Amino acid sequence: GLAKKATKSAKDTKQAAVLGAGIMGGGIAYQSASRGVPAVMKDINQPALDLGLNEAAKLLGAQVSRGRMKADKMAAVLNSIVPSLDYTAVKHADVVVEAVVENPKVKGIVLAEVESHVAEDAIVTSNTSTISIDLLAQSVKRPENFCGMHFFNPVHKMPLVEIIRGAKTSDETIASVVAYAAKMGKTPIVVNDCPGFLVNRVLFPYFAGFNLLLKDGADFQQIDKVMSKQFGWPMGPAYLLDVVGMDTAHHGNDTMVEGFPERMKFDFKSAVDIMYQADRLGQKNSKGFYQYA
Ligand code: NAD
Repeated sequence: GLAKKATKSAKDTKQAAVLGAGIMGGGIAYQSASRGVPAVMKDINQPALDLGLNEAAKLLGAQVSRGRMKADKMAAVLNSIVPSLDYTAVKHADVVVEAVVENPKVKGIVLAEVESHVAEDAIVTSNTSTISIDLLAQSVKRPENFCGMHFFNPVHKMPLVEIIRGAKTSDETIASVVAYAAKMGKTPIVVNDCPGFLVNRVLFPYFAGFNLLLKDGADFQQIDKVMSKQFGWPMGPAYLLDVVGMDTAHHGNDTMVEGFPERMKFDFKSAVDIMYQADRLGQKNSKGFYQYA
């Protein structure tokens, strides 16, 4: 079936580019570089690039101090993450992973822009958590070379990558992105296009359930304690939202409500909305449900 056809036509990824050096972009660049695929990391401002590079340096430093990596390897890996404020270095990429803000308009502009800078046969992917790949594909001229490549947070720890096939995505594109994900040490699954794909169709209704509990008067710390320590998940929903980022969760929720109005409709202002509007974005700005000093 598909898997066989896939291995046959997969192209090897030797050079990657990541657009957006945030939580996800920084993590994806790190993961790619540490598995031997150099990655250009492009953002629109220098502080964002610095954050991405610092994050990579921190992760690599931890590998060295645990004796899992030699210091010279660390330097080589860091050198293979090339920060950039323009598309000059991006043009040699075999695969581009777009990881800018979760906003369909911004993503559309960025995807069209990057496609005009890379080779005809380069593959462009989006790390969107919720936005339909077919919607984003309307912004590119070569939708056959476009698909979703959805990593999870934190990238270096989470094994799964959802590879989302758009209506026009070619088998070769899917095969090559599956191979690239495997080369990065990840476990790829190929899923069809729809808002939220697979994981977020489970996760966002879970967040909705959490918001309903808060509306009913529950204490978020207690819910976190129950779901983590007692139920056994790695973390509870409030802490997970702080990790995800309230802006990303807010935009993601809008997309899910639009896609599944009958399942996701709220008739009240959720805790995520309230915190988003109060600029309590979570770990990214040190304050969310919890305080991070
Ligand atoms: P983030 O806010 O940490 O980073 C976004 C970065 O994009 C910022 O550094 C910003 O400067 C940059 N940016 C904005 N416009 C740009 C442009 N035109 N060109 C280049 N860079 C630009 O966001 P994030 O959490 O890393 O999320 C990025 C994407 O990954 C979103 O689509 C999100 O839905 C998805 N995602 C997020 C998570 C998560 O848990 N945070 C998980 C999976 C997927």
